[in-house]
Amino acid sequence: MALMILIGVFVISIGIFASRSIDDDSDPSGTPDIATSSNAGTGDATPEDSTDPEQPSEPLSDDDGAVEPEATNAVTIEAPEVQQEPLNEEELQEYQPNELGQIMVLMYHRIEAQDNPDDVWTRTPDQFRGDLQWLYENDFYIIPIRDYIRNEISAPAGKRPVVLTFDDGTVGQFRMIEQDDGSVIIDPDSAVGILEEFDAQYDDFVAGGLFSILPLAPFAWPDAEDQRQYASDKLQFLIDNGYELGNHTVGHVNMGEIPDEEIKSELARAERLITDYAPEADISVLAVPFGVYPAGGDTSIFRGWEYEGEQYELEGALMVGAEPAPSPVHVDFDPMWIPRINADDEQLGRWFSFVEENPGIMYVSDGNPDTVTIPENVHSWLVDTLDEDKADGKTLIRY
Ligand SMILES: [Zn+2]
Repeated sequence: MALMILIGVFVISIGIFASRSIDDDSDPSGTPDIATSSNAGTGDATPEDSTDPEQPSEPLSDDDGAVEPEATNAVTIEAPEVQQEPLNEEELQEYQPNELGQIMVLMYHRIEAQDNPDDVWTRTPDQFRGDLQWLYENDFYIIPIRDYIRNEISAPAGKRPVVLTFDDGTVGQFRMIEQDDGSVIIDPDSAVGILEEFDAQYDDFVAGGLFSILPLAPFAWPDAEDQRQYASDKLQFLIDNGYELGNHTVGHVNMGEIPDEEIKSELARAERLITDYAPEADISVLAVPFGVYPAGGDTSIFRGWEYEGEQYELEGALMVGAEPAPSPVHVDFDPMWIPRINADDEQLGRWFSFVEENPGIMYVSDGNPDTVTIPENVHSWLVDTLDEDKADGKTLIRY
């Protein structure tokens, strides 16, 4: 292993962009996250017991690495409606903004058919459609995770921000299908296909999501060697269409069990491999594999490290489990410890019901990223939880 790392260092240092192939002996086991983070409140994530996804056995060909970034003027991202003026009294009463409330960050792994109701790591296409329909009908609005981390949430007034995250880059998240006439379409039953369908169907639905892929085989496992040829196209499509890419390490490593130098290498090489495919990709958010943080829960590496003479840093890190995430101005908000809700029937059922019964816990946008609007009377969970330092630079509005 040490030899492979040395070879890898050499290959990268001489600038050959065949670096993707140096990791063939590393183990992108890609086993969906199993451990619940230490401070995950109500989490009871079930350990993953399904088989390991196939590990990529072939180096990607040089062709796969040849990235031709598209002209930036081809990018069409639907801009959210941004309310520029502070809301007046009538609008406050209509929209009931509550920017101290909580934000659900949902966590998906596989999107595909399955018969086992106990498989909490797989959502069928129809279940995923149902999740989106429920979110849409309950005034949720997908936002980029970076907007949440940076407190730059620009969901329209009255909408409840929600973040979708997809780990491991399984093929069911994003599959291409070649038609009889040779044209290639996005599988309408893959997560991206379903999100795009919703986006086309509803004017006030904007597709999005953070895809934390394993860069040796993006959206090409399990059993999907034919999908490797589309890796660059898929990653470029995502960043051109308002989705985000995240870090998930190269080998889906357990960071609680490896030395710091290996953590730094895993994170930096994942970033390099992804930006080989999609040079504009910003992958400064990490979905922590297995939800296992570096030993002792020390996130100092995430906040900045050096690897082979280059500086890296993460803006945020995502846990596995198990409750809604705090507002960016909540005293408990820490971008390196963002809780997520696993998208299985039990967890979603619990939280969707809870939200319906306790709407006052949810973040409701005032439509303006420059103001923080909070009602005088908040849900008991939110009393005295505002950290005014985190609202620095924003106008604080109480009503
Ligand atoms: Zn994972």
